[in-house]
This record gives sequence, C-alpha cells and structure tokens, in this order.
Amino acid sequence: MYIYDRLKYIINLRKDSIVKRAGMERREKDLLSNLTRLINYSEYIHANLTVMERVCGNKNCKCIKEGKKHVSLYLTTVKKDGKRNMIYIPKKLEDEVKAYTERFFKIKEILEEVAAINLERLLGKKKADV
Ligand SMILES: [Zn+2]
Repeated sequence: MYIYDRLKYIINLRKDSIVKRAGMERREKDLLSNLTRLINYSEYIHANLTVMERVCGNKNCKCIKEGKKHVSLYLTTVKKDGKRNMIYIPKKLEDEVKAYTERFFKIKEILEEVAAINLERLLGKKKADV
C-alpha cells in the first residue's frame, strides 16, 4: 500500500510539472521572441532620465531676468567605478534617447521574467527527483 501511494504521489508530481511546463513554455516562447526582437534592434542605453531646471549664466537671459529657468533632459549613467555621469540631451534628441532607455529596461524586465521561469523549473526538477 505504501509503495502504491508513493508511486501515485510521484506520478501526480510529474503531471503537475508537465502541466506547469507546458504553460510556461508558451509564455517563455513569447518572452524570448520579444527579447530577441528588442536585442536585435540594438538601440538601447542603460541610463536614467532626469529633467533638470537650470540657469545658463547669461545675465540678460530670461532665466535670470524673469526667473524662467531652462528645462533640460539629462541622461544619468553609472560608470564602472560607480561614479555617476550626467549627460545633457538636446531637445532634438529627447524622443530618441527616451526610446533607447525604455528599450533597455524592457529588455531587463523580460530577462528577469525568463530567469524567474528558469528558477521555477529548476525547483520543479529538484522536487521531482526526491
Ligand atoms: Zn538662460
């Protein structure tokens, strides 16, 4: 009786993991094709965007005379030594740069989800082998 129960338990475990795997694979396939498309597109930058107000230094400019500061977009990157780097982005490049950074974080998000699926799968294998 014990052996029969044990066998039933193992068979159910296998069934569960097969059902789970089938579900995951569809999602995983979508994620991977999305990831491939984004990576192949190649245009991504790992940086955060910051909007900053500043005065330009020209005493006759509205930023000093009227207090209407210049609003500019900056890219903040982190260098290998951990130092931050602020890069001014001219107006004409703003949309392009926004797309670059959004693409990077989208890739990262998908990568994390695929990694989570793989971890889940590894844990399933571990359980099935007991
Ligand atoms: Zn100014």
